[in-house]
Amino acid sequence: MPFRQARNTDLTKSIEISSQPNSIDRLLLPDNLNDTPWEKHRRFADRVQLHYAGSKFERYAERIALCSQLLEFDLKAADGDAMRLQLRSTRFCRVRHCPVCQWRRSLKWKAKAYQVLPKVIEQYPTHRWLFMTLTRKNIHITELRDTLTEMNKSFKRMVGRKLFPAIGWLKATEVTRGKYETAHPHFHCLLMVPASYFSHGYIKQSEWVELWRDCLRLDYNPVIDIRAVKKDLNPSVLIPELLKYCTKESDMVADREWFLELTQQLHNMRAISTGGVLKEYLRELDSDPIESVETEGDKAGEERRQLLFGWQQSNNKYKIVS
Ligand SMILES: [Zn+2]
Repeated sequence: MPFRQARNTDLTKSIEISSQPNSIDRLLLPDNLNDTPWEKHRRFADRVQLHYAGSKFERYAERIALCSQLLEFDLKAADGDAMRLQLRSTRFCRVRHCPVCQWRRSLKWKAKAYQVLPKVIEQYPTHRWLFMTLTRKNIHITELRDTLTEMNKSFKRMVGRKLFPAIGWLKATEVTRGKYETAHPHFHCLLMVPASYFSHGYIKQSEWVELWRDCLRLDYNPVIDIRAVKKDLNPSVLIPELLKYCTKESDMVADREWFLELTQQLHNMRAISTGGVLKEYLRELDSDPIESVETEGDKAGEERRQLLFGWQQSNNKYKIVS
């Protein structure tokens, strides 16, 4: 049974399946969730759970073990002949580095940003957008917390500089794994600048490097990537890159000691921050959008057909339960 991600606007809930809406036959329904994001992320969750088991984060292992074990979907008609599975109810653990919850969080943040950015553009139609990545050299994983605190302070310093051109920004922290127990912390930023920036007060790439170096008080030139979003391009296209994850799943599962230290170092550190005029619009990104139990209410008079999938750890699969 072919599966594909839904293209509808509610990115967080649907899986589209090809089927005839008027001839729902049990045999046509999927009996597993092969190749769906649910399965992929739940597999990684099992590995993260194993990393936490027996460590000082044992309680996280226990919580992840209960995360998204049963997925209850409603089967609904979609556009054309397609049917889609819409999540009706499941339980999430909300552990920061749980791959399933991290994925859901990112989807919800994205949905929020997609919903809000058009309003910002409407309000500031002539403003332009810059996409910037601020980095520094790798540090030992045990220095991550102090380094990120310092980087956050430096970012504030930069925002406070007179020549800083943005009137609004969104900043997301990403940490990747480096060689020899190192970590590579960096910021992905979306900056909103007045159209006049390109004629007055324009900052060249080399000047951004100097500015970041100065604010971060480094004795070397840090790597910075900065590009202007084309005039006719909606900045929403950058949202997936910005709000994808803090640490990718393959890095989380690669080295247990590194990952446990990462968990320790990032405890209560914020991954996303907003400032300037974007703060108003994107305030909700500051909080965790996931509920531990998510359930959709019934709509009056709506007929629904339910499908329940259970996670089978031994098979690495979701299988239909009823
Ligand atoms: Zn979870």
